Amino acid sequence: TVRVRFAPSPTGMFHVGGARSALQNWIYAKQQGGVFVLRIEDTDAARNKPEWTEGILSALDWIGIERTSYEGPHFQSENAHEHRAAAQRLYESGRAYYCDCTREDVQARTGSQYAGYDGYHRDKGLGPGEGRALRFRTPDEGETVVVDLIRGEPTFENKLIEDFVIARGDGSPVFLLANVVDDMTMGITHVIRAEEHLPNTPKQQLLWDALGVKPPVWAHVPVVVNEKRQKLSKRRDKVALEAYRDEGYLADAMRNYLMLLGWAPSGDREIVPWSVIEQEFRLEDVNPSPAFFDEKKLRAFNGEYIRALSVEDFVDACQPWLTGTGTIAPPPWQPEEFDADVFAAVAPLAQTRIAVLSEIVPNVDFLFLATPLVEEAAWAKAMKEGSAELLDGAIAAFEALDSWDAESTKAALEAVGAERGLKLGKAQAPVRVAVTGRTVGLPLFESLQVLGRERTLTRLRAARV
Ligand code: GLU
Repeated sequence: TVRVRFAPSPTGMFHVGGARSALQNWIYAKQQGGVFVLRIEDTDAARNKPEWTEGILSALDWIGIERTSYEGPHFQSENAHEHRAAAQRLYESGRAYYCDCTREDVQARTGSQYAGYDGYHRDKGLGPGEGRALRFRTPDEGETVVVDLIRGEPTFENKLIEDFVIARGDGSPVFLLANVVDDMTMGITHVIRAEEHLPNTPKQQLLWDALGVKPPVWAHVPVVVNEKRQKLSKRRDKVALEAYRDEGYLADAMRNYLMLLGWAPSGDREIVPWSVIEQEFRLEDVNPSPAFFDEKKLRAFNGEYIRALSVEDFVDACQPWLTGTGTIAPPPWQPEEFDADVFAAVAPLAQTRIAVLSEIVPNVDFLFLATPLVEEAAWAKAMKEGSAELLDGAIAAFEALDSWDAESTKAALEAVGAERGLKLGKAQAPVRVAVTGRTVGLPLFESLQVLGRERTLTRLRAARV
């Protein structure tokens, strides 16, 4: 049976490119009736932290890779004895040899700091010992052909592959070997991973051969780049899946978008049910060129997913931002100021206007705060010549209304504006800023209706002093 694995290193926030690879592995396993294995590659003790591992598990869960749907997590560190045993076997069979050359030694001999290792100790018969690295003896002839579902058969000339290190001077096996040994002991049949690892692949395949096990089929999925075609980096770009989650991207939108990196469903569609993706995705159809992670497009995508929710689901989805749950910042109002009925009344208006759920807060905060948060620039812009008189007119007109609803306030303000030669749009601006603190937001007259006459008038009067 097909066995695939996702093998993240727990050294930081969970990268969107990793999430993409995980989904592709997971779907492939599902399509093949195979098993998805999660392996945490935790052998870099200096950089690993348990909370990163927990972050990986919960991020996977969030995008739909639930803990019951995979084998593991296994931990690379638990397999350390196998890594050492493999290194020993390679040494004993003559496929690896000890070497105590420093980088400077090699440079002095080759005359270049770019030349690879020159094979100096290949046949010197050096035994194991402190400070001696174990190097793999790569073949001098022939080529290594990698079978890659996405890239065809990348071919590497063996003589260009240096005798690379498989265990360090302190005896600890390096990533290249540990990763192979884990895949071997876990019975992995297909290695689906990022393109960045392709240069490692011929070396790793030589290790499989040397250890006498048939190598897996490979699939190197495209590198993910930003709009400048630079590889997404955590220093420069927003790459953490958690950051997108906390900003209010929906898991469904996110995972659909991630699957579009280098692939698309049939029929010119982009937004399709997940079941269609699970059915139609083919690793063989993934485009090998770098995949552009287009944050703007993702935002637009997310907006569409938000609008597709039922109002009830939308209200539920907003809750973490309305209350400040977990890693999400609390809203500016106190919990007791929040009114769920008021929120439900404006939710449909907000649903069509926001692209990420966190945007709900600035759209509705004026309803729950005793005094609105005023953007200084908005105030300055709206309160110009004539605004005071206009607000006075609006106050008088609103006081005189028989009923308080969106149609009445709109008609009243329209009339007040007309007396001063102002179109409704212009007349609205100072009222909106006085009542909500901002120049843009939910439709004004529906907002006034929900806010109520008393609170509206209080704010208009406050803007006049
Ligand atoms: N731990 C490696 C990484 O996170 C995994 C490499 C692989 O998938 O083989 O890049």
